[in-house]
Amino acid sequence: MKIPQELHFAASHEWATEPADGIVTVGISDFAQDQLGDVVFVELPDVGRSLAAGEAAAVVESVKTASDIYAPLAGEVVEVAQPGRFRVGDRVVVMPQNGCGKCARCLSGEHIHCENPVDPAAICGCTTGRATYAEYCIQQDWLLFAIPGDVSYDHASMACCGLGPTFNAMQMMHVDVFDVLLVSGLGPVGLGAVVNARFRGARVLALETNPWRADLARRMGVEAVIDPTSETALQEILDLTDGRGADKSIETSSAEGAPAFLVQATRRKGHLASVGWGGPLLAREIVAKGLTVHGAWHWNHLRDGEAMWRTIRGSAGLLDLQITHGFPMRRVQEAFELQLTGRCGKVILHPTE
Ligand SMILES: [Zn+2]
Repeated sequence: MKIPQELHFAASHEWATEPADGIVTVGISDFAQDQLGDVVFVELPDVGRSLAAGEAAAVVESVKTASDIYAPLAGEVVEVAQPGRFRVGDRVVVMPQNGCGKCARCLSGEHIHCENPVDPAAICGCTTGRATYAEYCIQQDWLLFAIPGDVSYDHASMACCGLGPTFNAMQMMHVDVFDVLLVSGLGPVGLGAVVNARFRGARVLALETNPWRADLARRMGVEAVIDPTSETALQEILDLTDGRGADKSIETSSAEGAPAFLVQATRRKGHLASVGWGGPLLAREIVAKGLTVHGAWHWNHLRDGEAMWRTIRGSAGLLDLQITHGFPMRRVQEAFELQLTGRCGKVILHPTE
């Protein structure tokens, strides 16, 4: 138990610091925290409230009991500590979707596949808690991911959909320098697959009909971009892979026929991951080739945080190519109009500009 000598303790287990510029910090003793056990809820006083000495100022609810916290001296509340893992001003990436935080999927960092997803309104009383095209959004603190000081907001924001789903696919398929990876679709997510695969040293082939994005992908180091609507598309891929097909392939386009095409274009005993929510896969073709198929929706920020930051730090040049445009939030209409032209990579909105 810690009993810091510089603190003044009350009989009811609160402590207060010596005043500095008229401000004292108040808390509860180590002993009281220990007696309470796991804290499940804290009700703090509003900033600006005047308190008399001995007045009930806050409530701490633990698994055992609910206890009032009394003001050890009279004064006005100027600031309250924030319960949780983060403070005002911390830089974070906000993970998408909501999980219960308790099921086996959530506890292993796979909250996107939570067995009992929670309603944001039930947690925070806000029906727009899941809004993302917004200056502010609300999220459970365990779904925030701290940004290292040396990583910019633009690059850090790729740790969500820009790189995340395809990063997860790379992790599941163990994509590395020995692989030929075929990327289906070079939209903002498919270009993220290119970044991830190039960082891992793989040879990258891609399927795309949009010439602007094909050109961008070539500048990002994609060896060949093939038109998937061409009758020779499959043959072109076989020609580039000694007649075998790609070792691993990833679907990001959500085009109806794309998953089935990748089954044809992936070598025997290869891997196929789908980030896109496209059309059907035939079991008999998968079985005949001995393929492993992965569903990759989002990445695991609890398990793979360090690997994600290594990818982002090591891909700065590629990310600067992938991110082709940035707009302040007030010009969101223009951003969407640009997106619809297809003459862009990842478009970033800056919420506070
Ligand atoms: Zn869950």
